[in-house]
Amino acid sequence: MDDNADILNYAGGKWCSASTDKYQDVVNPATAAVMGKVPLSPAVDVDRAVEAAAAAFVSWRKVPACERIQPLFRLKNLLEDGFEDLARSITMECGKTLDESRGEVRRIIENVEVASGIPILMQGYNSEDIAQGIDEMMWRQPVGVCAVIAPFNFPGMVPFWFLPYAVACGNTYIVKPSEKVPLTMQKIFHLIAAAGFPGGVINLVNGAKEAVDAILDNSTVRAVSFVGSTPVAKYIYGRAAANGKRAQCQGGAKNPIIILPDADMEMAARITADSAFGCAGQRCLAGSLAITVGSARGEFRDRIVDIAESRVVGYGLDEKVQMGPVITQQSKSRIEELIGQGKKEGAKILVDGRGALIPGYEKGSFVRPTIMDAVKPGSGTAVTEIFGPVLGLMHVESIDEAIGLVNSGKYGNMACLFTNSGPAARKFRYEAEAGNIGINIGIAAPMAFFPFSGWKESFFGDLHGQGLDAVEFFTQKKVVAERWPKEWSRKF
Ligand code: NAD
Repeated sequence: MDDNADILNYAGGKWCSASTDKYQDVVNPATAAVMGKVPLSPAVDVDRAVEAAAAAFVSWRKVPACERIQPLFRLKNLLEDGFEDLARSITMECGKTLDESRGEVRRIIENVEVASGIPILMQGYNSEDIAQGIDEMMWRQPVGVCAVIAPFNFPGMVPFWFLPYAVACGNTYIVKPSEKVPLTMQKIFHLIAAAGFPGGVINLVNGAKEAVDAILDNSTVRAVSFVGSTPVAKYIYGRAAANGKRAQCQGGAKNPIIILPDADMEMAARITADSAFGCAGQRCLAGSLAITVGSARGEFRDRIVDIAESRVVGYGLDEKVQMGPVITQQSKSRIEELIGQGKKEGAKILVDGRGALIPGYEKGSFVRPTIMDAVKPGSGTAVTEIFGPVLGLMHVESIDEAIGLVNSGKYGNMACLFTNSGPAARKFRYEAEAGNIGINIGIAAPMAFFPFSGWKESFFGDLHGQGLDAVEFFTQKKVVAERWPKEWSRKF
Protein backbone atom coordinates (compact mmCIF):
# COMPACT_ATOMS: atom_id res chain seq x y z
CA MET A 1 0.00 0.00 0.00
CA ASP A 2 3.05 2.27 -0.15
CA ASP A 3 2.45 2.68 -3.88
CA ASN A 4 -0.17 5.14 -4.93
CA ALA A 5 -3.25 3.06 -4.28
CA ASP A 6 -6.35 3.35 -6.43
CA ILE A 7 -9.07 4.37 -4.03
CA LEU A 8 -12.50 3.28 -5.19
CA ASN A 9 -16.08 3.46 -4.06
CA TYR A 10 -18.14 0.30 -3.60
CA ALA A 11 -21.84 0.28 -4.48
CA GLY A 12 -24.28 -2.51 -5.22
CA GLY A 13 -21.58 -5.12 -4.60
CA LYS A 14 -19.19 -3.64 -7.20
CA TRP A 15 -16.06 -1.51 -6.99
CA CYS A 16 -16.47 1.71 -8.96
CA SER A 17 -14.53 4.89 -9.67
CA ALA A 18 -15.88 8.19 -8.37
CA SER A 19 -17.37 10.56 -10.96
CA THR A 20 -14.91 13.33 -10.24
CA ASP A 21 -11.55 14.74 -11.14
CA LYS A 22 -11.09 16.14 -7.63
CA TYR A 23 -8.63 14.09 -5.62
CA GLN A 24 -6.72 14.65 -2.38
CA ASP A 25 -3.40 13.05 -1.39
CA VAL A 26 -3.42 10.44 1.37
CA VAL A 27 -0.19 11.05 3.26
CA ASN A 28 1.64 8.76 5.68
CA PRO A 29 2.08 11.19 8.61
CA ALA A 30 5.38 9.64 9.72
CA THR A 31 7.19 9.42 6.38
CA ALA A 32 5.27 12.09 4.41
CA ALA A 33 4.99 9.56 1.55
CA VAL A 34 1.88 9.90 -0.60
CA MET A 35 0.05 6.58 -0.28
CA GLY A 36 -2.85 7.22 -2.59
CA LYS A 37 -5.25 9.78 -3.95
CA VAL A 38 -8.72 9.83 -2.49
CA PRO A 39 -11.58 10.90 -4.74
CA LEU A 40 -13.82 13.65 -3.39
CA SER A 41 -17.05 12.06 -4.60
CA PRO A 42 -19.87 14.35 -5.70
CA ALA A 43 -23.57 13.87 -4.93
CA VAL A 44 -24.10 11.62 -7.93
CA ASP A 45 -21.87 8.94 -6.35
CA VAL A 46 -23.70 9.18 -3.05
CA ASP A 47 -27.04 8.91 -4.86
CA ARG A 48 -25.81 5.82 -6.74
CA ALA A 49 -24.81 4.14 -3.46
CA VAL A 50 -28.11 5.12 -1.84
CA GLU A 51 -30.06 3.65 -4.79
CA ALA A 52 -28.12 0.40 -4.48
CA ALA A 53 -28.74 0.33 -0.74
CA ALA A 54 -32.44 1.07 -1.17
CA ALA A 55 -32.80 -1.72 -3.75
CA ALA A 56 -30.98 -4.18 -1.47
CA PHE A 57 -33.12 -3.20 1.52
CA VAL A 58 -36.26 -4.64 -0.09
CA SER A 59 -34.97 -8.20 0.21
CA TRP A 60 -32.38 -7.85 3.01
CA ARG A 61 -35.01 -6.84 5.58
CA LYS A 62 -36.88 -10.09 4.82
CA VAL A 63 -33.84 -12.32 5.39
CA PRO A 64 -34.32 -13.94 8.82
CA ALA A 65 -32.06 -12.42 11.48
CA CYS A 66 -30.28 -15.72 12.09
CA GLU A 67 -29.35 -15.82 8.38
CA ARG A 68 -28.40 -12.13 8.25
CA ILE A 69 -25.70 -12.74 10.82
CA GLN A 70 -24.00 -15.52 8.82
CA PRO A 71 -21.95 -13.08 6.69
CA LEU A 72 -21.03 -11.30 9.95
CA PHE A 73 -19.58 -14.54 11.29
CA ARG A 74 -17.59 -14.92 8.06
CA LEU A 75 -16.49 -11.27 8.32
CA LYS A 76 -15.24 -11.90 11.86
CA ASN A 77 -13.04 -14.74 10.63
CA LEU A 78 -11.76 -12.69 7.70
CA LEU A 79 -10.94 -9.81 10.06
CA GLU A 80 -9.03 -12.23 12.32
CA ASP A 81 -7.09 -13.54 9.29
CA GLY A 82 -6.35 -9.97 8.17
CA PHE A 83 -5.61 -8.71 11.69
CA GLU A 84 -1.94 -7.73 11.23
CA ASP A 85 -2.45 -6.38 7.73
CA LEU A 86 -5.22 -4.08 8.96
CA ALA A 87 -3.15 -2.97 11.95
CA ARG A 88 -0.23 -2.06 9.65
CA SER A 89 -2.58 -0.16 7.37
CA ILE A 90 -3.96 1.89 10.29
CA THR A 91 -0.45 2.70 11.48
CA MET A 92 0.66 3.74 8.01
CA GLU A 93 -2.20 6.08 7.22
CA CYS A 94 -3.05 7.33 10.71
CA GLY A 95 0.30 7.25 12.52
CA LYS A 96 -0.51 5.36 15.72
CA THR A 97 1.76 2.60 17.00
CA LEU A 98 1.23 -0.99 15.90
CA ASP A 99 -0.03 -1.97 19.34
CA GLU A 100 -2.53 0.88 19.30
CA SER A 101 -3.66 -0.21 15.83
CA ARG A 102 -4.01 -3.80 17.03
CA GLY A 103 -6.27 -2.55 19.84
CA GLU A 104 -8.38 -0.77 17.23
CA VAL A 105 -8.75 -3.92 15.09
CA ARG A 106 -9.68 -5.94 18.19
CA ARG A 107 -12.54 -3.49 18.91
CA ILE A 108 -13.75 -3.75 15.27
CA ILE A 109 -14.01 -7.52 15.70
CA GLU A 110 -15.67 -7.21 19.10
CA ASN A 111 -18.47 -5.11 17.59
CA VAL A 112 -19.04 -7.73 14.88
CA GLU A 113 -19.24 -10.38 17.61
CA VAL A 114 -21.75 -8.42 19.69
CA ALA A 115 -23.94 -7.62 16.66
CA SER A 116 -24.02 -11.35 15.84
CA GLY A 117 -26.34 -11.69 18.83
CA ILE A 118 -29.04 -9.75 16.95
CA PRO A 119 -31.60 -12.60 16.81
CA ILE A 120 -32.10 -12.11 20.54
CA LEU A 121 -31.04 -8.44 20.81
CA MET A 122 -33.74 -7.19 18.45
CA GLN A 123 -36.63 -9.10 19.93
CA GLY A 124 -39.69 -7.10 20.88
CA TYR A 125 -42.15 -7.75 23.72
CA ASN A 126 -45.84 -8.43 24.08
CA SER A 127 -48.86 -8.55 26.42
CA GLU A 128 -51.74 -10.98 26.17
CA ASP A 129 -55.28 -9.76 26.88
CA ILE A 130 -54.75 -6.01 27.04
CA ALA A 131 -58.55 -6.20 26.82
CA GLN A 132 -60.38 -9.49 26.74
CA GLY A 133 -59.35 -11.36 23.58
CA ILE A 134 -56.99 -8.62 22.40
CA ASP A 135 -53.21 -9.03 22.41
CA GLU A 136 -50.62 -6.34 21.91
CA MET A 137 -47.06 -6.80 20.74
CA MET A 138 -44.06 -4.66 19.84
CA TRP A 139 -41.97 -5.67 16.84
CA ARG A 140 -38.69 -4.07 15.89
CA GLN A 141 -38.25 -3.41 12.21
CA PRO A 142 -35.24 -1.96 10.41
CA VAL A 143 -35.21 1.72 9.55
CA GLY A 144 -34.00 1.52 5.92
CA VAL A 145 -30.87 3.00 4.39
CA CYS A 146 -28.46 4.31 7.05
CA ALA A 147 -25.03 5.96 6.84
CA VAL A 148 -21.96 6.74 8.93
CA ILE A 149 -19.60 9.71 8.54
CA ALA A 150 -16.32 8.92 10.26
CA PRO A 151 -13.31 10.84 11.68
CA PHE A 152 -9.62 10.30 10.92
CA ASN A 153 -8.43 9.03 14.29
CA PHE A 154 -9.91 5.51 14.16
CA PRO A 155 -10.02 4.68 10.43
CA GLY A 156 -11.40 1.18 11.00
CA MET A 157 -13.10 1.10 14.38
CA VAL A 158 -15.51 4.04 14.38
CA PRO A 159 -17.69 2.80 11.48
CA PHE A 160 -17.92 -0.52 13.34
CA TRP A 161 -19.62 1.13 16.34
CA PHE A 162 -22.62 1.24 13.97
CA LEU A 163 -22.29 -0.85 10.79
CA PRO A 164 -22.56 -4.42 12.18
CA TYR A 165 -25.67 -3.53 14.23
CA ALA A 166 -27.29 -1.68 11.31
CA VAL A 167 -26.98 -4.56 8.86
CA ALA A 168 -27.73 -7.26 11.44
CA CYS A 169 -31.00 -5.41 12.18
CA GLY A 170 -31.89 -5.59 8.47
CA ASN A 171 -30.87 -2.10 7.34
CA THR A 172 -28.59 -1.39 4.42
CA TYR A 173 -25.58 0.82 4.87
CA ILE A 174 -23.24 3.47 3.51
CA VAL A 175 -19.81 4.27 4.95
CA LYS A 176 -18.16 7.66 4.31
CA PRO A 177 -14.64 7.37 5.79
CA SER A 178 -12.47 10.36 6.63
CA GLU A 179 -10.79 11.57 3.45
CA LYS A 180 -7.53 11.71 5.43
CA VAL A 181 -7.50 7.94 6.09
CA PRO A 182 -9.49 6.04 3.44
CA LEU A 183 -7.10 3.11 2.89
CA THR A 184 -7.96 0.78 5.79
CA MET A 185 -11.63 0.93 4.79
CA GLN A 186 -10.63 -0.19 1.27
CA LYS A 187 -9.09 -3.29 2.82
CA ILE A 188 -12.09 -3.88 5.07
CA PHE A 189 -14.44 -3.61 2.09
CA HIS A 190 -12.48 -6.36 0.32
CA LEU A 191 -13.27 -8.51 3.36
CA ILE A 192 -16.91 -7.37 3.34
CA ALA A 193 -17.10 -8.36 -0.34
CA ALA A 194 -15.64 -11.79 0.48
CA ALA A 195 -17.97 -12.32 3.46
CA GLY A 196 -20.96 -12.78 1.16
CA PHE A 197 -23.28 -9.88 1.97
CA PRO A 198 -25.71 -9.45 -0.93
CA GLY A 199 -24.78 -6.56 -3.27
CA GLY A 200 -25.99 -3.19 -1.99
CA VAL A 201 -26.22 -4.17 1.69
CA ILE A 202 -22.96 -2.37 2.55
CA ASN A 203 -21.63 0.45 0.36
CA LEU A 204 -18.66 2.82 0.45
CA VAL A 205 -18.42 6.41 -0.74
CA ASN A 206 -15.15 8.32 -0.38
CA GLY A 207 -15.14 12.07 -0.14
CA ALA A 208 -15.51 15.11 2.06
CA LYS A 209 -18.12 17.83 2.65
CA GLU A 210 -19.86 17.45 -0.72
CA ALA A 211 -20.44 13.73 -0.11
CA VAL A 212 -21.58 14.40 3.47
CA ASP A 213 -24.09 17.02 2.35
CA ALA A 214 -25.42 14.66 -0.30
CA ILE A 215 -25.99 12.00 2.38
CA LEU A 216 -27.76 14.54 4.60
CA ASP A 217 -29.99 15.79 1.78
CA ASN A 218 -30.90 12.43 0.25
CA SER A 219 -34.42 11.68 1.48
CA THR A 220 -33.93 7.90 1.13
CA VAL A 221 -31.27 7.93 3.87
CA ARG A 222 -33.22 7.43 7.10
CA ALA A 223 -30.51 7.57 9.77
CA VAL A 224 -27.07 9.14 10.11
CA SER A 225 -24.31 8.38 12.59
CA PHE A 226 -21.49 10.90 12.87
CA VAL A 227 -18.26 10.97 14.83
CA GLY A 228 -15.88 13.92 14.59
CA SER A 229 -15.37 17.46 15.85
CA THR A 230 -18.10 19.34 17.74
CA PRO A 231 -18.80 22.09 15.17
CA VAL A 232 -19.32 19.50 12.42
CA ALA A 233 -21.35 17.26 14.79
CA LYS A 234 -23.70 20.17 15.50
CA TYR A 235 -24.01 20.99 11.82
CA ILE A 236 -24.76 17.39 10.85
CA TYR A 237 -27.23 16.90 13.70
CA GLY A 238 -29.13 20.05 12.65
CA ARG A 239 -29.18 19.31 8.92
CA ALA A 240 -30.09 15.63 9.39
CA ALA A 241 -32.92 16.54 11.76
CA ALA A 242 -34.19 19.28 9.44
CA ASN A 243 -34.39 16.61 6.74
CA GLY A 244 -36.36 14.28 9.03
CA LYS A 245 -33.62 11.75 9.73
CA ARG A 246 -32.56 10.03 12.90
CA ALA A 247 -29.15 11.29 13.95
CA GLN A 248 -26.54 10.45 16.55
CA CYS A 249 -23.54 12.77 16.45
CA GLN A 250 -20.46 12.36 18.64
CA GLY A 251 -18.25 15.41 18.97
CA GLY A 252 -14.98 16.57 20.50
CA ALA A 253 -13.70 16.38 24.05
CA LYS A 254 -11.50 17.80 26.77
CA ASN A 255 -11.06 15.00 29.26
CA PRO A 256 -9.98 15.71 32.85
CA ILE A 257 -8.25 13.23 35.14
CA ILE A 258 -8.30 13.92 38.89
CA ILE A 259 -5.51 12.57 41.11
CA LEU A 260 -6.24 12.43 44.84
CA PRO A 261 -3.37 12.35 47.38
CA ASP A 262 -4.18 8.73 48.35
CA ALA A 263 -3.78 7.44 44.76
CA ASP A 264 -1.04 4.99 43.79
CA MET A 265 1.15 7.69 42.21
CA GLU A 266 3.22 5.35 40.06
CA MET A 267 0.06 3.88 38.55
CA ALA A 268 -1.71 7.25 38.23
CA ALA A 269 1.23 8.84 36.40
CA ARG A 270 1.86 5.84 34.11
CA ILE A 271 -1.80 5.48 33.14
CA THR A 272 -2.37 9.23 32.75
CA ALA A 273 0.65 9.38 30.43
CA ASP A 274 -0.80 6.53 28.33
CA SER A 275 -4.09 8.40 28.19
CA ALA A 276 -2.53 11.78 27.26
CA PHE A 277 0.17 10.58 24.85
CA GLY A 278 -1.36 7.34 23.46
CA CYS A 279 -2.31 7.76 19.79
CA ALA A 280 -0.33 11.05 20.06
CA GLY A 281 -3.22 12.51 22.06
CA GLN A 282 -5.59 12.02 19.12
CA ARG A 283 -8.20 9.96 20.92
CA CYS A 284 -11.56 11.42 21.82
CA LEU A 285 -10.87 9.76 25.19
CA ALA A 286 -7.38 11.24 25.59
CA GLY A 287 -6.83 12.68 29.05
CA SER A 288 -5.77 16.25 28.39
CA LEU A 289 -6.02 17.84 31.85
CA ALA A 290 -4.61 16.32 35.04
CA ILE A 291 -6.07 17.94 38.17
CA THR A 292 -4.06 17.15 41.29
CA VAL A 293 -5.62 17.58 44.72
CA GLY A 294 -3.64 18.67 47.81
CA SER A 295 -0.34 16.87 48.34
CA ALA A 296 -0.69 14.82 45.10
CA ARG A 297 0.78 17.73 43.17
CA GLY A 298 4.55 17.37 43.54
CA GLU A 299 4.98 13.63 43.19
CA PHE A 300 2.51 13.29 40.32
CA ARG A 301 4.14 16.18 38.43
CA ASP A 302 7.67 14.80 38.82
CA ARG A 303 6.68 11.31 37.77
CA ILE A 304 4.70 12.36 34.70
CA VAL A 305 7.47 14.70 33.58
CA ASP A 306 9.92 11.75 33.67
CA ILE A 307 7.56 9.56 31.67
CA ALA A 308 6.89 12.29 29.08
CA GLU A 309 10.60 12.97 28.60
CA SER A 310 11.43 9.31 28.09
CA ARG A 311 8.59 8.46 25.65
CA VAL A 312 10.05 6.89 22.48
CA VAL A 313 8.64 8.81 19.53
CA GLY A 314 8.90 7.62 15.93
CA TYR A 315 7.32 5.64 13.12
CA GLY A 316 4.64 3.36 14.57
CA LEU A 317 5.70 0.38 12.44
CA ASP A 318 8.82 0.13 14.62
CA GLU A 319 7.72 -2.05 17.58
CA LYS A 320 9.95 -0.06 19.99
CA VAL A 321 8.12 3.19 19.30
CA GLN A 322 5.67 4.33 22.01
CA MET A 323 4.16 7.33 20.23
CA GLY A 324 3.69 8.18 16.56
CA PRO A 325 3.10 11.44 14.70
CA VAL A 326 -0.03 13.59 14.58
CA ILE A 327 -2.13 13.35 11.45
CA THR A 328 -0.89 16.27 9.29
CA GLN A 329 1.57 19.15 9.15
CA GLN A 330 -1.38 21.52 9.66
CA SER A 331 -2.31 19.64 12.80
CA LYS A 332 1.30 19.84 14.05
CA SER A 333 1.36 23.62 13.46
CA ARG A 334 -2.00 24.08 15.19
CA ILE A 335 -0.87 22.10 18.25
CA GLU A 336 2.44 23.98 18.44
CA GLU A 337 0.61 27.29 18.21
CA LEU A 338 -1.74 26.30 21.04
CA ILE A 339 1.26 25.38 23.21
CA GLY A 340 2.72 28.84 22.50
CA GLN A 341 -0.57 30.53 23.38
CA GLY A 342 -0.76 28.53 26.61
CA LYS A 343 2.65 29.89 27.58
CA LYS A 344 1.50 33.43 26.85
CA GLU A 345 -1.52 32.83 29.08
CA GLY A 346 0.81 32.04 31.96
CA ALA A 347 1.17 28.26 31.89
CA LYS A 348 4.66 26.92 32.55
CA ILE A 349 6.02 24.50 29.96
CA LEU A 350 7.68 21.64 31.86
CA VAL A 351 8.24 19.44 28.81
CA ASP A 352 8.18 21.08 25.39
CA GLY A 353 7.35 18.84 22.44
CA ARG A 354 7.54 21.54 19.77
CA GLY A 355 10.05 21.42 16.93
CA ALA A 356 10.45 17.64 17.12
CA LEU A 357 12.82 16.14 14.57
CA ILE A 358 12.87 12.36 14.39
CA PRO A 359 16.02 11.00 12.71
CA GLY A 360 15.07 9.29 9.46
CA TYR A 361 11.60 10.87 9.50
CA GLU A 362 12.44 14.57 9.27
CA LYS A 363 9.38 15.28 7.11
CA GLY A 364 6.99 13.56 9.52
CA SER A 365 4.32 15.43 11.50
CA PHE A 366 5.80 14.81 14.93
CA VAL A 367 5.09 16.64 18.17
CA ARG A 368 6.76 15.17 21.25
CA PRO A 369 4.90 14.79 24.57
CA THR A 370 4.28 18.18 26.15
CA ILE A 371 3.42 19.05 29.74
CA MET A 372 2.17 22.49 30.80
CA ASP A 373 1.88 23.29 34.49
CA ALA A 374 -0.19 25.88 36.36
CA VAL A 375 -2.87 25.97 33.68
CA LYS A 376 -5.46 28.56 34.69
CA PRO A 377 -9.18 27.70 34.77
CA GLY A 378 -10.90 29.14 31.71
CA SER A 379 -7.62 29.62 29.78
CA GLY A 380 -7.22 28.25 26.24
CA THR A 381 -5.18 25.27 27.45
CA ALA A 382 -7.90 24.43 29.98
CA VAL A 383 -10.83 24.55 27.57
CA THR A 384 -9.64 23.94 23.98
CA GLU A 385 -9.50 20.44 22.51
CA ILE A 386 -5.86 20.43 21.40
CA PHE A 387 -6.02 16.89 19.93
CA GLY A 388 -2.29 16.34 20.29
CA PRO A 389 0.10 14.97 22.93
CA VAL A 390 -0.32 17.89 25.32
CA LEU A 391 -1.22 17.47 28.99
CA GLY A 392 -2.18 20.49 31.09
CA LEU A 393 -1.69 20.32 34.87
CA MET A 394 -4.06 22.09 37.23
CA HIS A 395 -4.09 22.09 41.00
CA VAL A 396 -6.83 22.43 43.64
CA GLU A 397 -7.20 21.76 47.35
CA SER A 398 -10.30 19.56 47.52
CA ILE A 399 -12.21 16.91 45.60
CA ASP A 400 -15.23 19.26 45.49
CA GLU A 401 -13.15 21.90 43.72
CA ALA A 402 -11.80 19.26 41.34
CA ILE A 403 -15.28 17.98 40.45
CA GLY A 404 -16.40 21.61 40.06
CA LEU A 405 -13.62 22.13 37.50
CA VAL A 406 -14.61 18.94 35.65
CA ASN A 407 -18.24 20.05 35.49
CA SER A 408 -17.39 23.59 34.39
CA GLY A 409 -16.15 22.27 31.02
CA LYS A 410 -18.37 22.42 27.95
CA TYR A 411 -17.55 18.86 26.91
CA GLY A 412 -18.61 15.67 28.69
CA ASN A 413 -16.94 12.77 26.95
CA MET A 414 -14.85 11.27 29.75
CA ALA A 415 -13.69 12.05 33.29
CA CYS A 416 -11.38 9.89 35.42
CA LEU A 417 -10.30 9.69 39.04
CA PHE A 418 -7.29 8.06 40.69
CA THR A 419 -7.81 7.21 44.35
CA ASN A 420 -7.69 4.50 46.99
CA SER A 421 -10.95 5.64 48.53
CA GLY A 422 -14.28 3.97 47.78
CA PRO A 423 -16.39 6.87 49.06
CA ALA A 424 -14.39 9.38 46.98
CA ALA A 425 -14.79 7.16 43.92
CA ARG A 426 -18.52 6.86 44.52
CA LYS A 427 -18.92 10.62 44.98
CA PHE A 428 -17.01 11.24 41.75
CA ARG A 429 -18.92 8.81 39.59
CA TYR A 430 -22.18 10.16 41.00
CA GLU A 431 -21.40 13.84 40.46
CA ALA A 432 -19.13 14.03 37.41
CA GLU A 433 -20.90 15.31 34.30
CA ALA A 434 -19.45 13.02 31.66
CA GLY A 435 -20.72 10.00 29.76
CA ASN A 436 -17.67 7.77 30.25
CA ILE A 437 -16.15 7.55 33.73
CA GLY A 438 -12.87 5.90 34.73
CA ILE A 439 -11.92 5.00 38.30
CA ASN A 440 -8.21 4.19 38.37
CA ILE A 441 -8.58 3.91 34.57
CA GLY A 442 -7.19 6.46 32.12
CA ILE A 443 -9.09 5.62 28.93
CA ALA A 444 -12.62 4.66 29.89
CA ALA A 445 -13.49 3.20 26.47
CA PRO A 446 -16.69 1.15 26.68
CA MET A 447 -16.59 -2.42 25.43
CA ALA A 448 -18.81 -3.15 22.41
CA PHE A 449 -21.62 -4.40 24.66
CA PHE A 450 -21.90 -0.98 26.36
CA PRO A 451 -22.93 2.28 24.67
CA PHE A 452 -20.12 4.64 23.71
CA SER A 453 -21.54 7.46 25.72
CA GLY A 454 -20.76 11.19 25.73
CA TRP A 455 -22.57 14.20 27.23
CA LYS A 456 -22.91 17.93 26.69
CA GLU A 457 -21.00 19.25 23.65
CA SER A 458 -19.47 15.80 23.11
CA PHE A 459 -22.73 14.30 21.89
CA PHE A 460 -25.86 15.37 20.04
CA GLY A 461 -28.69 12.89 20.06
CA ASP A 462 -30.01 10.35 22.52
CA LEU A 463 -29.01 6.84 21.43
CA HIS A 464 -25.29 6.08 21.25
CA GLY A 465 -23.22 3.66 19.19
CA GLN A 466 -22.52 0.03 20.20
CA GLY A 467 -24.59 -2.50 22.11
CA LEU A 468 -28.28 -2.10 22.90
CA ASP A 469 -28.29 1.63 22.07
CA ALA A 470 -27.27 0.74 18.51
CA VAL A 471 -30.07 -1.82 18.28
CA GLU A 472 -32.55 0.87 19.39
CA PHE A 473 -31.13 3.38 16.89
CA PHE A 474 -31.24 0.97 13.95
CA THR A 475 -34.77 -0.32 14.56
CA GLN A 476 -38.16 1.33 14.59
CA LYS A 477 -40.84 -0.01 16.85
CA LYS A 478 -44.14 -1.19 15.54
CA VAL A 479 -46.89 -1.87 18.06
CA VAL A 480 -49.63 -4.22 16.94
CA ALA A 481 -52.97 -4.70 18.72
CA GLU A 482 -54.70 -7.83 17.49
CA ARG A 483 -58.19 -9.27 17.92
CA TRP A 484 -59.44 -12.62 16.59
CA PRO A 485 -63.13 -12.91 17.56
CA LYS A 486 -64.03 -16.35 18.85
CA GLU A 487 -67.03 -16.57 16.49
CA TRP A 488 -64.62 -16.69 13.55
CA SER A 489 -63.04 -19.93 14.79
CA ARG A 490 -63.49 -22.95 12.64
CA LYS A 491 -64.21 -26.16 14.44
CA PHE A 492 -61.11 -28.42 14.40
P1 NAD B 1 -13.90 16.34 11.52
O1 NAD B 1 -15.12 16.85 12.19
O2 NAD B 1 -12.99 17.32 10.87
O3 NAD B 1 -14.30 15.30 10.36
C1 NAD B 1 -15.13 14.20 10.61
C2 NAD B 1 -15.89 13.85 9.34
O4 NAD B 1 -16.71 14.95 8.95
C3 NAD B 1 -15.02 13.52 8.14
O5 NAD B 1 -15.55 12.39 7.49
C4 NAD B 1 -15.11 14.76 7.26
O6 NAD B 1 -15.05 14.46 5.89
C5 NAD B 1 -16.47 15.33 7.61
N1 NAD B 1 -16.50 16.80 7.58
C6 NAD B 1 -15.51 17.65 8.00
N2 NAD B 1 -15.90 18.92 7.86
C7 NAD B 1 -17.16 18.90 7.36
C8 NAD B 1 -18.09 19.90 7.01
N3 NAD B 1 -17.81 21.20 7.16
N4 NAD B 1 -19.29 19.53 6.53
C9 NAD B 1 -19.60 18.22 6.38
N5 NAD B 1 -18.74 17.21 6.70
C10 NAD B 1 -17.53 17.55 7.18
O7 NAD B 1 -13.13 15.45 12.61
P2 NAD B 1 -11.68 14.78 12.50
O8 NAD B 1 -10.63 15.83 12.55
O9 NAD B 1 -11.64 13.79 11.39
O10 NAD B 1 -11.65 13.93 13.86
C11 NAD B 1 -11.20 14.45 15.08
C12 NAD B 1 -12.37 14.88 15.95
O11 NAD B 1 -13.25 13.78 16.16
C13 NAD B 1 -11.94 15.32 17.35
O12 NAD B 1 -12.67 16.46 17.71
C14 NAD B 1 -12.31 14.13 18.23
O13 NAD B 1 -12.56 14.45 19.58
C15 NAD B 1 -13.55 13.66 17.55
N6 NAD B 1 -13.86 12.28 17.88
C16 NAD B 1 -14.88 12.07 18.76
C17 NAD B 1 -15.19 10.77 19.14
C18 NAD B 1 -16.29 10.53 20.13
O14 NAD B 1 -16.62 9.38 20.34
N7 NAD B 1 -16.88 11.54 20.73
C19 NAD B 1 -14.46 9.70 18.62
C20 NAD B 1 -13.43 9.96 17.71
C21 NAD B 1 -13.14 11.27 17.35
